[in-house]
Amino acid sequence: MGELHVFFFPMLAHGHMIPTLDMAKLFASRGVKATIITTPANQPVFSKAVDKYTQLGFQMEIRLLEFPGVEVGLPESCQRLDQIPSDDGLPTFFKACALLQPSLEELLQELRPDCLVADMFFPWATNAAAKFDIPRLIFHGISHLALCAMQSLGVYKPFNNVSSDSELFTIPNLPHELKLTRLQVSPMERSELETPFTEFLKRVSESEDTSYGVIFNSFYELEPDFVEHYKNVLGRRAWSVGPLSLYNRDVEDKAERGKKSAIDEHECLKWLDSKNPHSVVYICFGSVANFAPSQLHEMAMGIEASGLDFVWVIRNKREEEKWMPEGFEERTKGKGLIIRGWAPQVLILDHEAVGAFVTHCGWNSTLEGISAGVPMVTWPVFAEQFLNEKLMTDVLRTGTGVGSKEWKRSESDGVKREAIAEAMKKVMIGEESEEIRSRAKAMKDKAKKAIEEGGSSYLGLSSLLDELRAYHAKH
Ligand code: UDP
Repeated sequence: MGELHVFFFPMLAHGHMIPTLDMAKLFASRGVKATIITTPANQPVFSKAVDKYTQLGFQMEIRLLEFPGVEVGLPESCQRLDQIPSDDGLPTFFKACALLQPSLEELLQELRPDCLVADMFFPWATNAAAKFDIPRLIFHGISHLALCAMQSLGVYKPFNNVSSDSELFTIPNLPHELKLTRLQVSPMERSELETPFTEFLKRVSESEDTSYGVIFNSFYELEPDFVEHYKNVLGRRAWSVGPLSLYNRDVEDKAERGKKSAIDEHECLKWLDSKNPHSVVYICFGSVANFAPSQLHEMAMGIEASGLDFVWVIRNKREEEKWMPEGFEERTKGKGLIIRGWAPQVLILDHEAVGAFVTHCGWNSTLEGISAGVPMVTWPVFAEQFLNEKLMTDVLRTGTGVGSKEWKRSESDGVKREAIAEAMKKVMIGEESEEIRSRAKAMKDKAKKAIEEGGSSYLGLSSLLDELRAYHAKH
């Protein structure tokens, strides 16, 4: 049987490119030729890992498509989702992505891969692949729970049946009771208004029905009822192959994901080595979430009030830090490590000194925390993060919420210092924290087993590859 060749085409955002790179490495390690499609400005996210894997004898390469941002009116500097000047730029950014279709088709024609794994935000990729009779898989980069819940919210619109923004409602027809308030649902999902952007989102959702299937960065044992619901009730074809971050095994792989770290990884490890096991709280909010300065001030006060040791990742530059409480860094010297910029997240989470993770519940961060077996303080901000929070606080019970109330794409605010300190202490100190930690540890063990030979994700990928080979043989 001939070897398979698979294209991987992620959305131009770190939260999508990082797991897609891990997925391409995984496929390559199972004998597949993996070609990553991206734009010149985003090539550095992939090049080092691809060079390393190629030298190790795996078949990997990168193919570049010019990003037509300027053609649709985006500034030259805007080459990634987090670089759009404001939220209003989102539809324009997706329009630029859609203009990539002809150059993608040229590549498909030239290289004739056996499968195209393309991001959910590229619904047009299904048609492009169909022209060459190539099966297209969707990569959402989110959980089964979130997809099931979003489907239910779209169909039943339960947020219309409550009398206030803060009244809880149950998301109907799911295998677990999940409750939200109207304010925790994105304004786009709540709105009755039809805009070009809601039309686009409809096409994203329809492409789930017209594509070959969906590939998940998740594992069966994490959300079995939602995996079954997704396949058997919603009737979708799906394969779980995660947690993808676990395929990064050495320090170099763990330290270099997405961007170059703002701290030398050995310096970071040395600092953590000086701390006791489970004594440090790691605080990081991914690559996009944005807080109001007043919230960052409150966050600092909460962290200090907890009295706990911490690693805190701050994305802005030092000169933009007018919100920082005076003397904070001096007072917390030795207790806290501030990383300004990009942190080697997986390396930190896997260190035994780390005892908890304060997270915005982005799906990658969520899975990375689960894979490291750390209890979480959940602080969702936007996207599907309020649903991921429910997985940890209500279904797995490996985390506690900080009390985030409102879905907000930028300038998120409203969480008080007392709530922050209290949530941090709850997962770090006392009897309840032991119980949370032991549940988190049990899930970590399941995650590790899932990707080992014979584990659920290992077998998930085996069955997908078998199907693709059979498809290839038939066509
Ligand atoms: N990440 C990192 N260092 C940072 C911030 C983020 O390595 O300082 C990585 C993190 O490990 C994860 C990804 O960036 O793999 C963020 O994805 P997630 O889905 O958690 O959040 P998003 O950035 O998409 O909101």
